[in-house]
Amino acid sequence: MNYSDFEDRKLLCRDCFVGKVYDCVVPSYGCKSNPKVVVMGEAPGADEVENLQPFVGKAGKLLRATLNEFGFRQSNTLITNVIPCRPEKNKFPKDLEIVRKCTKKWLYKELEIVRPSFIILIGAKPLKFVLNRDGITKCRGEWYDFVLGDHTIKCMPTFHTSYVLRKKYMEDGDDIMAKFRRDVEEVAKVVL
Ligand code: URA
Repeated sequence: MNYSDFEDRKLLCRDCFVGKVYDCVVPSYGCKSNPKVVVMGEAPGADEVENLQPFVGKAGKLLRATLNEFGFRQSNTLITNVIPCRPEKNKFPKDLEIVRKCTKKWLYKELEIVRPSFIILIGAKPLKFVLNRDGITKCRGEWYDFVLGDHTIKCMPTFHTSYVLRKKYMEDGDDIMAKFRRDVEEVAKVVL
C-alpha cells in the first residue's frame, strides 16, 4: 500500500471510542517517504486537533525547535503519535488492548510503509508500545532495537517535552531539559 492510500484510510478510522470523541484523526506530519527519522509522541491534544498536525502546542513548539536546532527538517523527519486520535480529557486510554489494536492497524503499518532506520520515542507511551518497556527515566538516552518483520529500527527514548516543560529538574537535581537535548543531539550525530 502506498502512503497516501494508507493515510486516507487512517483518517476515516472510527473503530474505537477514542476517535469518536472528537470525530477526528490527526495525520502524521513531515517526510512520508524515506524519512531519516521518525519522531513519535503519545497522542494529539486540543491544539493538534484544531490544526490537524501533531506537536503544534507548547510541548510541540519545544520539540520542533529542538529538532530544528539539531538539523532535523520537515524534508527528512516524520512526526507521528502512538495513537492518532485525541483521547477524552487528554487521558491516554488505560485499555491496553484498544491501544494495541490501534498500533497494529496504524502505527506499525505506517512504520512498515516508510521503513525508517531510526525513531526518537518521546515519552513513556511510545517506549511502552514500541519497545514494550516501562521506565522512561531509566531507558532514556540509550539505543534499543525494534524489530518489525524483516526490518530493525534503532530507537532512542527520551523525555516527553510536556514533562520537560513541567518538571525542569529531577529529584536528584539533574536537568531534564539538558538530558532531552542531549538525546536529540545524539540521534542527530548518528543520523544526519
Ligand atoms: N503530545 C504528544 O504526545 N503528541 C502530540 O501530538 C502533541 C502533544
